[in-house]
Amino acid sequence: MSPEPAHGKLLILTAPSGAGKTTIVRHLLRTFGELAFSVSATTRPPRPGEVDGVDYHFLSNREFLDRVAAGAFVEYEEVYPGRFYGTLHEEVQRIRKQGRTVVFDIEVKGATNIKEYYPEDSLAIFVAPPSEDVLFQRLRDRSTEDDESLRVRIARAGEELAYANRFDRVLVNDDLDTALAEAELIARDFLRD
Ligand code: ADP
Ligand code: 5GP
Repeated sequence: MSPEPAHGKLLILTAPSGAGKTTIVRHLLRTFGELAFSVSATTRPPRPGEVDGVDYHFLSNREFLDRVAAGAFVEYEEVYPGRFYGTLHEEVQRIRKQGRTVVFDIEVKGATNIKEYYPEDSLAIFVAPPSEDVLFQRLRDRSTEDDESLRVRIARAGEELAYANRFDRVLVNDDLDTALAEAELIARDFLRD
């Protein structure tokens, strides 16, 4: 399927798990009313406080694979063994048709695919942690993962960090206020173009 002839732009935030994408995306959504979040589908269970249809569309494996077969996804990945995540065409189209900019919180392979699918209208920001050790500490401190999930995320992070220079911008998330201010500047510039 070719990209739809709609008008909103696409702002992609990507990084290893724990680098701070979600924190930065939430700040940008609060700051710029013209942004709207692309709610992905996933087969992982909701974390406490997560709401179906707001944070993710939480699907069973069967539901997810049925949608894959129906061609519903722009991209999808088995990000962790048995855990699928994907971007729905209808989600992106709905937001673009409103003339709003779609914001993605997505891992590096999906981000690469979204960029390839929408080469003209997208900007991809790689959120880099100050170091691997800090990244792992943030993941542990977030206390959302059990030991196995933590292990899998840490194992994947090294590979993901190697993707940094494939994206349009690298945003180092060391001091949070500094990173949020820089993210705002990048987004403001992109929205103005
Ligand atoms: P991601 O969405 O990339 O997995 P999160 O936004 O969930 O990352 O951030 C991971 C954890 O690190 C969260 O607990 C968040 O509050 C914390 N965090 C994010 N940015 C910073 C920062 N600059 N300094 C300290 N902690 C941070
Ligand atoms: P989490 O389980 O921490 O919410 O997400 C795990 C990883 O999957 C994160 O890096 C997140 O950005 C990524 N992710 C979320 N939605 C999508 C999606 O639609 N497609 C892809 N490829 N990755 C996603």
